[in-house]
Amino acid sequence: MAFLKRWSDGLMHLFFPHTCAACGTDVLNEETALCLKCLHQLPVTNFHQHANNPVEKIFWGKLSITAATSYCHFTKHSLIQNVLHQAKYKNNQQAAVYMGRLLGNSLLQSHRFNTIDAIVPLPLFAARLKKRGYNQATLISQGIGLVTGKPIIENAVTRLSATETQTHKNRVERWQNMQGRFMATNTVVLENKHILLVDDVVTTGATLEACGQEILKITGTQLSIATIAYTV
Ligand SMILES: [Zn+2]
Repeated sequence: MAFLKRWSDGLMHLFFPHTCAACGTDVLNEETALCLKCLHQLPVTNFHQHANNPVEKIFWGKLSITAATSYCHFTKHSLIQNVLHQAKYKNNQQAAVYMGRLLGNSLLQSHRFNTIDAIVPLPLFAARLKKRGYNQATLISQGIGLVTGKPIIENAVTRLSATETQTHKNRVERWQNMQGRFMATNTVVLENKHILLVDDVVTTGATLEACGQEILKITGTQLSIATIAYTV
């Protein structure tokens, strides 16, 4: 049977080539999105182990969070940029789930995230979701859910409008630009829960902050944040 499985895997691979989301090299194992070389070269932060890490500092004085972490450092023209680009724009949904699993495993290694009750993916605006066909934050959340066993709560918070690119805005402009962009539309399901808010990348944190503020307005909520990558 093992032989048959190997044979059928090989056959599948012939018809549906499966390549590494970071370097494009051939990867035979259907359960992984990265080749071993790229997996070992990921610039992991280990922020999950440390209070007052750079991701938490982003939110100091702005958002009352319990803990925050990013799995990797983000650098341009790097493996992690390729993976995130694949996950966001190239319909490589497996890569998003896979990175979520890596992030989820890191959370399990730290006691700082062990009171999380549920995972909330940062919502996309409805029209954007329709156009892309999926929310990469939801797929990352699914990966986290697979390894942590925590449920995912979608549609409790709604994104009221799309956000134009923030690349050319400064910190204050980004913050102003995000105000009022989110609304909690089903507060009951989040009440009295420690929520892990999830996105692909954190930069200034303006988007996560705007969404997090709405979650923290709900009775008894506690908030933590996790992203795949962190960039300054
Ligand atoms: Zn690779």
